[in-house]
Amino acid sequence: MSFEIKIWGCRGSIPVSSPDHLKFGGSTACIEININGNVVIIDAGSGIRELGTELLKRGTRTAHLLLSHGHYDHIMGLPFFYPVYKADMQLHLWSGHTNCNPCTHDIISDFMREPYLPVSLDIMQANMNFYDVKEGAEIDLGNGITAVSCATNHPGGCFAWRVTDGKQSFVYWSDHEHGNDEVDARLTQFATGADVLIYDAMYTDDEYPSKKKGFGHSTWRKGCEFAQKAGVKQLLLFHHAPERTDNQLEAIEAMAHKIFAGASAARDGQIIKLD
Ligand SMILES: [Zn+2]
Ligand SMILES: [Zn+2]
Repeated sequence: MSFEIKIWGCRGSIPVSSPDHLKFGGSTACIEININGNVVIIDAGSGIRELGTELLKRGTRTAHLLLSHGHYDHIMGLPFFYPVYKADMQLHLWSGHTNCNPCTHDIISDFMREPYLPVSLDIMQANMNFYDVKEGAEIDLGNGITAVSCATNHPGGCFAWRVTDGKQSFVYWSDHEHGNDEVDARLTQFATGADVLIYDAMYTDDEYPSKKKGFGHSTWRKGCEFAQKAGVKQLLLFHHAPERTDNQLEAIEAMAHKIFAGASAARDGQIIKLD
């Protein structure tokens, strides 16, 4: 039995590349959860390109892709996820944050068209199955793996996801603005007891109230608070602001670690093995 999580992209908003972004990486949101060889992907940010290359190498021909929402930083990598051009690939895509307005298929097809992109969904030869899910409905991803969603507080809607094999569990709680007590409590409950929690830690305490309130994101300190309340084992700070340098992230990581011992800042390429 193995339960492995790999970070393929942990940046928020837009991919970045500079000498100040080498340690934590510059690709946008993409996480792979590999449970006994079964691949569940959360979000298709720019980091999914490299994951696609890796899946082709491994010979993986089936994957589930859970979308938190349709903002560019979470879907922009999909046209560059090369398995979608392979006729023997099965890709199951799930979302539900819009309540089917638009549905999952249209979220993707609307962004993949001229004049924004030269390729459309029709060119993708993979067998792509689109599903629309209701918040809180448990979905069966096969081989004993299930996923369930919980709505976050984010412009246009967004889902947090909890993926489990019945033993280990992983919670992806990104693109969320704290401050609505009821929503925060529901999500804390949702994350309870997770082995690993990924949280939207885009801002610092200084930035948030003065400039960023209402933008739909949170702070690393709130992440520590929720992680403690939810009794999770590990917290990964995620959705790093594009301008956040490696040095700043290391400083944030050190401060977060003092508040919550299981806290660290996510970095591209990082692998977490649960047993
Ligand atoms: Zn985002
Ligand atoms: Zn967003």
